[in-house]
This record gives sequence, structure tokens and C-alpha cells, in this order.
Amino acid sequence: MNRRKFVTRGTAGMAAMLVSSASIGKSAPGIREAAAPVTSGPQRYDLMKEVMKYRKIDTHAHIYWTDDSPETQLDYGRRLGIEKQVISRYLDVMPGTPDQFRKFNDLTIKAIKKYPDHLLGGFVLNPVYKQESLDEIKRCTDAGMIGTGELYYQVKINDPKYFPIIEKLIDLKMIIHSHGECQLGVGGYRMKYNGYKQPNTSIPEDFVDIARRYPEGIFQYAHIGMGGDWEYECKLFRDYPNIYVDTSGSNNAENMIDFAVSHLGEDRLFFASDNSYYQSVGKILAANLTERQKQKIFFDNYNNLLKKGGRGVD
Ligand SMILES: [Zn+2]
Repeated sequence: MNRRKFVTRGTAGMAAMLVSSASIGKSAPGIREAAAPVTSGPQRYDLMKEVMKYRKIDTHAHIYWTDDSPETQLDYGRRLGIEKQVISRYLDVMPGTPDQFRKFNDLTIKAIKKYPDHLLGGFVLNPVYKQESLDEIKRCTDAGMIGTGELYYQVKINDPKYFPIIEKLIDLKMIIHSHGECQLGVGGYRMKYNGYKQPNTSIPEDFVDIARRYPEGIFQYAHIGMGGDWEYECKLFRDYPNIYVDTSGSNNAENMIDFAVSHLGEDRLFFASDNSYYQSVGKILAANLTERQKQKIFFDNYNNLLKKGGRGVD
């Protein structure tokens, strides 16, 4: 990227230009007054115009049990031009009984019924309870949900207990979205947990395993920006075209999005926040992508898959 392009990329660019001007002044004080284009200043960059230019589906967001939810999430969405948020209440309880997951899904159903123009619902379940989970898929689908919400750590995504669930989701042409953690630590060793982490949390290799078993399944690996080793994740997923990654997470290393596109292609990224809204829009805008690539990531990639199941956004 040349310097002019960099400068147009917003406040970071402006800061770079000011620093650059200052250093010119320092090294050549005598000619600074005459040489510096005093009246021109940094190029203007209308960040919010850029933000609002793209249609967006946030493919990974959550609602909470608090009184301000989902209104707070909707407020973020409005200000950032996010047309739809796929919300779920992830099952962060053990053991995750049918009573628990029904209660969690009821929270989501209530929200999508109240705000049908802006919220899409994702359901959660626990395949330990096979029949109850299958019944819950039907109940939630009848209530208008579009696929799974972020499935959680009760059972690994490639555990045989998931097979009948995944087969049902494939029949329904639904996206299978699951939490995942890289869990690679220093020197590339798997991290050892002390009980804080659930042992059945899915890791990238579990996604590869299930994607190979069900090539017709559509798998969404949650939050490459969660803080794990996204380079490892993208390299590992490269040859499995039915694994998509969502871009959410509060860790936003420079080059993450560029790296993911270069390894997975521009069709296999879904824009998502996991409720880190500003950062999630910013990291796509800051990536070295074409306008068309940004449109795909913000909206079209996910919507094209929704359309396959007759659930597309107009
Ligand atoms: Zn997660």
C-alpha cells in the first residue's frame, strides 16, 4: 500500500501524516514554512459514510437476560448500519438440560417476535438429549428461527451424539454455528486447563473432522478474533470448503481479515461481532479488500447460504 492510500484510511492515516510533517520540520527547520502545504491539511475521510455504505448481517450476536437487552444491541446495530443480527443465548450452563435450553431459546424467540425486522434467531441445544434436541429444532424452526445459534461446550461438534442433530440440520439446509477455541499455547502445545475450561469445548481439528464426515453440512467456526491462533485456524480450514469462519471477537490483530481471505477465499468469511460491534465493522473496513469483497463478507456470503434454505434477506 502506498502512503497516499494509507492516509485515506482514516484517523490512523491522519496521525501518520502529522507525525510525518513534524519530522520534516525537525530535520529541515529552515525550509519547513515554505515547503509544507499549510492550507491543505490531511485528506478528509468520512468514516461513517464508509460504515453506512455496506449492507450488513451480523452473523454472531447474543442477547442477555438483562432488562436493556436486546434494545442495547439493536442500538449498536442501528448506528452501524447492521440490518440484521443473528442472535442467540448461548448455553453457558452445565449440564445444559432440555429445560435449560428451552428457557434460553424462549428468550431469543421473544426477542425476534418483538423485533422481526432486525433480529434473526439462532437456537441452542444439547445433543446429550437427542430426542429433546430434535424436538427443539422443530419448535424453534416453527417459531421462525433460521438455524443454530452458537452451540456451546457441552459436547464436541464431532462427537457421534451430534450426528443425528447435524443430519437434521442438513435436511433443513441450516447453517451449523458452533463456538470453537484454538487452544494452542506457547510453542504450539495444547493448553492444559485447570477446570476453568470445559473439556468438551470444540477445537479447530474437531471442525475439520465433522466437515469431512458431512461435506454437505455448512459449518460456521465462531470468532476468529476471539484471541486464539487465527493463522493456525485459517491454515487448517483451507482445504475444507464447507467450513466458514465468522470474523467476530474482541481481539483484532492487524492483517487477520486479509490473512483469512488469502487462505480461505473471499466467499468463506461471515461478518460478525459477538457483540464487539465497533471493532467488528472496523476490522473489515481496515482490511485491504475490494469493495466487492467487503460486500460479500458483510452481507452476501451469509445471505446466499440463507437463500439456499429459503430464509434469505431481501
Ligand atoms: Zn463463542
